[in-house]
Amino acid sequence: MSEALDHLLSIDREHIWHPYASMSSPSPVYPVASAEGVYLNLSDRRRLLDGMSSWWAAIHGYNHPRLNQAVQQQLSRMSHVMFGGLTHEPATRLTQALLDILPEGLDKIFYADSGSVAVEVAMKMALQYQHALGLTQRYKFAAIRAGYHGDTWHAMSVCDPVTGMHSLFSKGLATQYFLPQPSSRFPSPCLASSECRFNPEDIQPLRELLVERGHEIAALILEPIVQGAGGMYFYHPEYLRQAQALCQEYGVLLIFDEIATGFGRTGKLFAAEHAGVIPDIMCIGKALTGGYMTLSATITTAHVAQTICAGEAKCFMHGPTFMANPLACAVAAESIRLLQESDWQAQVGMLEQALYQGLLPAQAWSCVADVRALGAIGVIEMKDPVNMASLQDRLVEQGVWVRPFGRLVYLMPPYVMSQEQVAQLCAGVLQALREEYGGE
Ligand code: PMP
Repeated sequence: MSEALDHLLSIDREHIWHPYASMSSPSPVYPVASAEGVYLNLSDRRRLLDGMSSWWAAIHGYNHPRLNQAVQQQLSRMSHVMFGGLTHEPATRLTQALLDILPEGLDKIFYADSGSVAVEVAMKMALQYQHALGLTQRYKFAAIRAGYHGDTWHAMSVCDPVTGMHSLFSKGLATQYFLPQPSSRFPSPCLASSECRFNPEDIQPLRELLVERGHEIAALILEPIVQGAGGMYFYHPEYLRQAQALCQEYGVLLIFDEIATGFGRTGKLFAAEHAGVIPDIMCIGKALTGGYMTLSATITTAHVAQTICAGEAKCFMHGPTFMANPLACAVAAESIRLLQESDWQAQVGMLEQALYQGLLPAQAWSCVADVRALGAIGVIEMKDPVNMASLQDRLVEQGVWVRPFGRLVYLMPPYVMSQEQVAQLCAGVLQALREEYGGE
């Protein structure tokens, strides 16, 4: 290893905290020098095929000339101005691009800095809405077990209580109502039809909760169709349709967290389209900027917005410093244009097939519980948690970048990956697992 690289790693090890990492015995990290298309170029000259899209975000691949140009052009005008009392063309251009693709009726947009903040904003909107209606006792939220909505305080309160470590934070964390994960699986072509019939029992706990506690609940928040970080689980669209009907009956707002699923990842522009359900509030982030920088948005209807603004505060009580950052808005507008110009549906359809076929051999292995794919998401669910550090090493040895967690080895490549590259990615994953588990 060169001296410069050694220095970089020692500064990192001594001083920099990584996601969900220990500072006292940090796991190894791999320095990236550059990234291009579907490859990450490591500083030691190894090249890794990217199976993660940098956590759902880099849908067009890295270092894209059109996205680079959008940032560079905006940079030469201004990188940032405050959004209080000012506006700018990148924000309005992005808004127009979003209005083109957002579900009907969702047209009041609040820009924020990250996915977690978009969730905080959505929860505050729901609370202010109920407050404006005089329903001040409605301050709780309902959520689904195995869900994930971010790491900030209230976002964390609606994450799965076990994986979100609620017990650790119990004295400070708001207590919310949790519903069981829907047992009915998404009717994907990979499953037999008997395996994915909707079980009407799934919706019963929500009905009971709303009958008993509906008067305390401001909103139900969930990830539509795909539960991401909480389990990479795909559930039945009928659950969303029935949940919406119940929420409407009991005056509870419906919040969809499309931060991971938005922008085509599940085969529809937004996962809610699988169910034909339009929520009252929706959060987007991650792929919004094509993975270039952090930006999110919380979007609601005219009805919710007008109700909030007729309430005591007369405004919505939130305003981040970097709200609607012009660089982020410019690249987001270009990313949406790129998506619209591409044949992303065919590409994501190809990825679904290729991921499923590529991972399917693992289904027969004794260490594997399930193999599944939906859109550009492929999952191997192991029976037991993997040893992340050693498996990560083996994956890198195979020339692929995949970051397993818990019992999940999952892939969500950039949409621009070719069929051959997906086959190579899956083969690398299977080989790493074979080595880790000493056979099949
Ligand atoms: N919601 C969902 C569904 C997510 O997957 C994530 C991020 N993994 C978040 C919220 C939080 O987003 P961020 O990390 O940008 O705060």
